[in-house]
Amino acid sequence: MIDIKSLFDSEIEKLIIENGFQKFRAKQVLDWLKKGVTSFAQMKNVPKDVISFLENNCYISTASIERKLVSKLDGTVKYLFSFHDNEYVESVVMNYNHGYSICISTQVGCKMGCTFCATGKSGYSRNLTASEMLAQIESAQKDLGVRISNIVLMGMGEPLDNFDNVTRFLKLVSSEQTLNIGMRHITLSTCGIVPKIKELADMKLQLTLSVSLHAPFDELRSKTMPINNAYNISELLDACRYYIDKTNRRVSFEYALIDGVNDSDECAKELSKLLSGMLCHVNLIPVNSVQGTGYIKSKLKRQQAFVDILSACGITATVRRTLGSDINASCGQLRRKYKEGGI
Ligand code: SAH
Ligand code: SF4
Repeated sequence: MIDIKSLFDSEIEKLIIENGFQKFRAKQVLDWLKKGVTSFAQMKNVPKDVISFLENNCYISTASIERKLVSKLDGTVKYLFSFHDNEYVESVVMNYNHGYSICISTQVGCKMGCTFCATGKSGYSRNLTASEMLAQIESAQKDLGVRISNIVLMGMGEPLDNFDNVTRFLKLVSSEQTLNIGMRHITLSTCGIVPKIKELADMKLQLTLSVSLHAPFDELRSKTMPINNAYNISELLDACRYYIDKTNRRVSFEYALIDGVNDSDECAKELSKLLSGMLCHVNLIPVNSVQGTGYIKSKLKRQQAFVDILSACGITATVRRTLGSDINASCGQLRRKYKEGGI
C-alpha cells in the first residue's frame, strides 16, 4: 500500500495519470488531502472509480491522540500519538513568545542507546514515514486550534538514522503542498552520525543543525553515547565545520549537565577549547532524571560556573529553561510509562 501523504504532489499526479485517470483528478485529490480528510470516501467530487483505485492501493496516515498531558506550570502540551500499527510516539508543543513550537519524533524508539535517554532505554521498533512526522504536527494544530510556526526534530529517535524519510518530510513540510513552514524555522538534532551530517550539509538546506555533544572527552562521551565509538569528537566537529561552511548557518550544541559526570571546570575548559572560533551556540540543559539511569542534574552553582567558564572563553552559552517539567516533557518518558502500564 502506498502512503499517499508521503508523496510530493508531482508523484501523486504521476500515480493518477499512469493509472489512466485525468490529470485534474490529482489536483482534486491533493486539495482534499490538504483539507485533512482521513478517508478517500470523504473526497466528494472525485468519481467512484478513482476512489476505489485509491482505496485499493493507498492509505492516508494519521496520528491519533492516545494521551494528552497539559503542564499546569507553563501550558506545554505533551501528546502520545498512535499510528495504524499501534506504535506510539511522543510530541511536545511549547508556546514561546514568538509562537508555537513542536518537538516531533522521527522513529519509534531509537537504536543509539545513549545512557541518559528514556527513548534509548526502551529500544527501537521502526522508522516513521514522512507523513507520520507531518501527521504529528497536523493533529496537534487541529487539537489546539493554533498554527505551529517552529519545528524541532528532537523527539524520539535519531533523525539522521532515518535520513530518506526525514529529508522527504523536510521538503514536504516546507512546501505549499502542506504546511509551508520555512527551513529557517526548523531544527534537526543529531547524536552525531558524521557521514549523514555531511550529506545533509551538501543539500544546503537552511535549517538549524543541533548536535548532542554532552561531553568534551572521547572516553567520557563513549561511556554515555555509544555513537562516539563509531565517530569520535574530532570527526564530529570536522563534520560540523563542514556543515557551517556549506550552509553559513550557526550550529547549536546540546550539553546536558549531569551531576559529577560532565560538569567539572575541566570539562568546561575543554569544551571551550574544542569550540573556539566556531560559529556556534551552546545549549546547556540540566539533565532530566530518567528512571534507571542514576543521573541527576548539576547543582545550580555548578551550572552557573560552567556557563561562566564558557563565556570567559568567548563561547556563547545559555542554560535552557525547562518547560513542562511536571509532565515529563523530556521525550521517551511518557511512552515508556504508558507501555509499562504506569498511566
Ligand atoms: N536523537 C537526537 C534527537 C532526539 S534526542 C539526538 O540525540 O540529538 C533530543 C535531545 O534530548 C538530545 O539533545 C538528547 O541528547 C537530549 N536528551 C535525551 N535524554 C535527555 C535527558 N534525560 N536529559 C536531558 N536531555 C536529554
Ligand atoms: Fe537516540 Fe537521541 Fe536518545 Fe541518543 S539521545 S538514544 S540518539 S533519541
